[in-house]
Amino acid sequence: MRSLLLALPVLGLATGVLVALSPQEPAEQGPVGYEDTPQLPNSEWRVHDKFRPVPDAIVPGRPSTQDQVGSAPSDAIVLFDGTNLGAWEGGPWQLEGGVMTVNGKGDIRTKQGFGDCQLHVEWRSPDEPDRSSQGKGNSGVFLMGRYEIQVLNSYQNRTYADGQAASLYGQKPPDVNATLPTGQWQSYDIIFRAPRFDEEGALVSPAVATVLHNGVLVQNHVELLGPTSHRSLPKYRSHPEKLPIKLQDHGNKVSYRNIWIREL
Ligand code: MG
Repeated sequence: MRSLLLALPVLGLATGVLVALSPQEPAEQGPVGYEDTPQLPNSEWRVHDKFRPVPDAIVPGRPSTQDQVGSAPSDAIVLFDGTNLGAWEGGPWQLEGGVMTVNGKGDIRTKQGFGDCQLHVEWRSPDEPDRSSQGKGNSGVFLMGRYEIQVLNSYQNRTYADGQAASLYGQKPPDVNATLPTGQWQSYDIIFRAPRFDEEGALVSPAVATVLHNGVLVQNHVELLGPTSHRSLPKYRSHPEKLPIKLQDHGNKVSYRNIWIREL
């Protein structure tokens, strides 16, 4: 990391442009650490183990601001960068000015399936002064097409607690309401662990979701009771290890930008 930080400004100056580098460990650096330290419990490695592999170096993404869209980390799969809807099927939603917007043509879903993941999504509520509760800026991020992180305009808009923005819909409200005023871009950073089923289809371990809304932790490693349902108790049913992510068309012109995912 140190070498990358040193190299970036130098190369930036030399070329006069901002370049995304693929960082590498310097070839001359050998293993660093100890061979005589205690063994870590439940691990094949010692404390400060000299031979423990170092993690791959990646280039982190650039965070968004209200005015400027950010970028994905170098090891992420970009699902939407504002240029095209190629990663998605269904809809199609309206694509304009680097933003895609619900348009009444139905949900969209990724062509690729995903299980355990880190998902970054940015969304913006439309101005709908005459709408209220679940009718105001409703959309949703459905992990595996089943497990909804609710998208709703929850700025000064009362609805049932487990249906507001960043709720695990019908199961658990967010710990706080971190919603920004109508019209501002908001982010979800979701860490999701898919449920596990045995060969007979019985649940081995439930889905688990952690959600940061605008950088604020609002769902901390919460076990889901099952797939999202309305006015009823959820019930798990066996499904494949990877399934498409769905974005909901609930009839409100919610917009999205800068969507990327890292498989875990
Ligand atoms: Mg919804």
